[in-house]
Parts: sequence; structure tokens; C-alpha cells
Amino acid sequence: MHYPINEIFQTIQGEGYYAGTPSIFIRLQGCPVHCKWCDTKYTWECNNQDQISYEKMIMKKKSNRTWSYMNSKEIILIIKTKKWTAKHVVITGGEPCLYDLLEITKELEKKDYKCQIETSGTELIRCSLNTWITLSPKTNKKALNTSILRSNEIKYPVLKEEDLFYLKSILKKIKNKKNNFIFLQPISQNEEALNICIKTCIIKNWRLSIQIHKYLKIQ
Ligand code: SF4
Repeated sequence: MHYPINEIFQTIQGEGYYAGTPSIFIRLQGCPVHCKWCDTKYTWECNNQDQISYEKMIMKKKSNRTWSYMNSKEIILIIKTKKWTAKHVVITGGEPCLYDLLEITKELEKKDYKCQIETSGTELIRCSLNTWITLSPKTNKKALNTSILRSNEIKYPVLKEEDLFYLKSILKKIKNKKNNFIFLQPISQNEEALNICIKTCIIKNWRLSIQIHKYLKIQ
């Protein structure tokens, strides 16, 4: 299976349950959700004219809409060639679940990597059983029930108080599920959103996710 890869890099996971973990990020191209505040709008369209060689893709200095098809073996070869030391791999986007991720997650696990998928939950999740699913539901396109039930953590973006309504309906669906971590994440470091998240996390005993990579100004 070939995946359209926008970028692949090693950094520190800045969000949610694995915040602070050295991680290899694989960013897939394509997202039909189109959130107004999206910080990776360059991943939305997967146009043929933006296809480049993988040699060019891995040399990118700046994020842009170009992408390259790569299969699991080529992805693992890049990781080994770069001598990256992280053992945690985050498959993100765009919306990575547009693609069948069973093969790539299984191949990475064979090499002792822990896989994490960051998804809006709007597409069917296809991956290994051990893959950690970070569900980040969006009010503009609702998550599938199967995605909600498969999630290991919910990382919920908040801009206004009203955004929390949709989260309540999601939580009803997982009320009998243990070990599902709830994070509130203020959108775009907005101060008012941060205050709403802090207040609500304290009342509800949820966790705060603050995108530490943005404060640290790293990728
Ligand atoms: S789902 Fe994610 S990648 Fe897609 S538009 Fe929303 S924030 Fe951007």
C-alpha cells in the first residue's frame, strides 16, 4: 500500500497523553473536514500536480502542499537511514484515516515502534489492535460512533464555551468505557479558550493539552 506523505520528521509530541514523548511524525496528505482554524491547511488537497519524489519530500525545509507516495518499507527505510532514535510513531494529517493504516502500523510494530494515530474520527479507523487512537472530534463534521468507541483518548479542541456541547454527547457514548482519557486543548493558544479549558478541566477532573511544541517553537 502506498501512502501520500506530506512530511516525516522527528520531534517531541506536544499534545495529549503522549506529550513530551520523542516521536517520529508521519503526516499524510488529504483532509475533507476543513476546520476554519486548522493549522495544517496545506494538507487538505491531494492534487497530482503537487506530487514530488520522496527524496525531495524528506528534504523539505518548509511545510507546503507537496507530497510523495511511499510504502511501509520505504517509510521504515527513511527512519533507519535518518538514524532517528524515537520509538514512538505518530501518524497524523490531514486526516490519516482516509487511508487503510493496518499495513503501516503492523510493519512499524514488527520493528518495535509504538504507533499512535491522530484522527478526527470522521473516517473508518483501520489499524493494528495495539495502535493508540487519539480522537480529536470536530464540531463541523461529526465523528463516527465506531471511532468514538475505538479511541484511547479524546483530545477535544475548544475555542468557545459552546464547543463543549458536542463533547457532552460524545461522552454519553463512552460512559461505560474505562481508561479513556479526556483532554481539553485550547485552539491556537487563544487566551480565552485556555481559561475555559483550565476551569473545565479542574471542575471535571479532565486533563489540559497545551500544544507544548508551539510554545517551544519546534516542529
Ligand atoms: S481535521 Fe485536522 S487536518 Fe483536517 S481540517 Fe480539521 S484540524 Fe485540519
